[in-house]
Amino acid sequence: LVLPLSSVFNAVGLIQRGMGAYQRIEQALDLPVEPTHPGHPQVRARTCEAPPQAPSHEEPALALRDLTFGYEPGRPVLSGVTFPVPHRSQTALVGRSGAGKSTVFALVARFYEPDSGVLLFDGRPATELTRAECRERIAVVDQNTHVVHGTLRDNITYAAPDASDAEVRRVIELAQLDDVVRRLPGGLAGLLGDRGNTLSGGERQRVALARALLARPGLLLLDEPTSHLDAINETALTTVMKDVARECALLVIAHRLSTVQHADQIVVLDDGRATARGGHEELLAGSSLYRELAAGQMLPGRRPRVNP
Ligand code: ATP
Repeated sequence: LVLPLSSVFNAVGLIQRGMGAYQRIEQALDLPVEPTHPGHPQVRARTCEAPPQAPSHEEPALALRDLTFGYEPGRPVLSGVTFPVPHRSQTALVGRSGAGKSTVFALVARFYEPDSGVLLFDGRPATELTRAECRERIAVVDQNTHVVHGTLRDNITYAAPDASDAEVRRVIELAQLDDVVRRLPGGLAGLLGDRGNTLSGGERQRVALARALLARPGLLLLDEPTSHLDAINETALTTVMKDVARECALLVIAHRLSTVQHADQIVVLDDGRATARGGHEELLAGSSLYRELAAGQMLPGRRPRVNP
């Protein structure tokens, strides 16, 4: 009697889990389809007729102009934020936890539309581009790096399985993964194990970076890990950021000063306002908040809460 009863209980548990999964799938299927041009059909009509424009490198890869945004009406999270992200350079966003850094990323990736102000990609207002066109220009590497069970090569190329060996070698070098290739039994063909548990957190993020760089994005958004990085991984990340910034526009949310001291420009966000912008030394001299962050070495904040 015990065996058949336990089978029945197991089956009931399985059915309940299946029902839960089914409901979540239904909820996902019910989500509204993202409109290509929310609120700007007239602009779309005009741009369809216009000839495609090549990106102008005289304009910054990205510019935020007077952006104001709040998740709830009357509670702005960003107020009048203005700064450019020039091509082939590194821009770092710093600020206390909750200052609005992840929200800037969410707007740039167009998960939300600003309440006012303009976002320009290569000088073109985001509203003249489809969301897909905006996202084609950018790659995002956040803190939730995904490493799947498979080889290192699979993990780097899963969005571009036809990538050539030369391209894969280029991004491995750029992402400072040569040591990992040397260390892994089988090298590029070596298995990373379930959830990449053969790699450290810093290495996992660099695998995600290599994957993003394979697409040769014009603009890379990188949310630096808040978790502790050992000295080797921290140095590797700093080098990667410098090298990547020679190839594209890099906008990085910085949680520790040591990795972005050499950024071409650092934007200080204070309670949703960009209160200062400049190089490390310049900000040490001119921004009291930056001095405060530097003195505390910008202790890691909580994980970003922005979910599209
Ligand atoms: P951290 O360094 O801790 O990640 P942050 O500077 O990235 O912080 P944001 O995550 O952009 O800050 O949050 C800015 C403000 O917006 C906070 O008050 C936060 O609580 C709020 N916020 C963030 N995401 C959402 C959301 N999806 N819905 C409502 N409020 C949100």
